[in-house]
Amino acid sequence: MRRSSGFPRSARRTTAALTGALLLTGTLFAGNAAAVGEGPDYQGNETVNTSILSTYDDVAGFLKDQDAKQDAMELEVIGQTVKGRDIHLAKYMSDPDNPTILYLAQQHGNEQLTTEAMLHTIKSLASKHNAALLDDVNVLFIPMFNADGAMGDVNFPLDGYLAKGERHLTRYNANEVDLNRDHVAKEQPETKALHQNVLRAYDIDYAIDLHHQGTQSRVNGDLVSGSILHPTTPDVSPELVERSKRLGSVVYENVDSTGWGHIGRYAGGTANTIGRNGIAAEYGIATLLFEMRGMSDHEYEPYVLGQKSNGYLIRQSVLTMEATIRSIADGSVDRADTSFWDTLPEQCSTC
Ligand SMILES: [Zn+2]
Repeated sequence: MRRSSGFPRSARRTTAALTGALLLTGTLFAGNAAAVGEGPDYQGNETVNTSILSTYDDVAGFLKDQDAKQDAMELEVIGQTVKGRDIHLAKYMSDPDNPTILYLAQQHGNEQLTTEAMLHTIKSLASKHNAALLDDVNVLFIPMFNADGAMGDVNFPLDGYLAKGERHLTRYNANEVDLNRDHVAKEQPETKALHQNVLRAYDIDYAIDLHHQGTQSRVNGDLVSGSILHPTTPDVSPELVERSKRLGSVVYENVDSTGWGHIGRYAGGTANTIGRNGIAAEYGIATLLFEMRGMSDHEYEPYVLGQKSNGYLIRQSVLTMEATIRSIADGSVDRADTSFWDTLPEQCSTC
């Protein structure tokens, strides 16, 4: 754990909320630093146990605890899920004139390491070093958007899902709707809450939508640790795409250079129903999709990743958030070189 900068030993109190995530980080620093996307697949024999992941109650408790400890943070409830769970927004709004970035995790409930990473990032903002950044940037976090899917508390069966543990996690919300295809109709309570009480309520400049993908994508013959994509809808201006590409550049530079990060271009669609596209088109927000390798639970084996990979994957998301917060705060995002996008290979299972 000695290299976990930003998380001072004294602050590492084992609240119930963070226990799981801290255990996962322990895995990272136990020595798989060279694992460039090579964490083991599930393949029927890797350990995938959902009981090491934070529950909804863990997340809510952690956020309330941090809200009490951090002066700069404010916790807001933006709405409720189908099953009545509060959807939390953790806000750091130091100056309305600052640029503002939104991080959204778990639109898909079976993609949970992004949430664990967000809890780490929120905790790290309490440190003096990171707190100084908040003078120059406003940050909004939604750590567990699809809490019903994350808890497997849904109105359809999850038979055949592979993970062991106290619960299954599913992509869909309780009504079996993919929330990341509801950004035009906005029919689900979760999507309504996001648009009405966050996207229309705050002057947001940037958004990163955090996801997990399958395990078998490659670039240049190597399995990737993740992939990125800017908006690809025809309904956004070239300038907005360019700003989104600059945000992606900061992520690429910081993650791909670690030795264990290996990033491809996500093969994404152009529909505005997808958050990356619809949010950019409707609000002029520069958006980036960030997909990490391997899902927390699924019925399809090639999508699930053994938990030995959890440490570096969580670290990858923490890096993504910390680097982008820093680059927006110091303005360096405006000078980010976007030329790498022209040669960034699209990931695929055979390339
Ligand atoms: Zn997803």
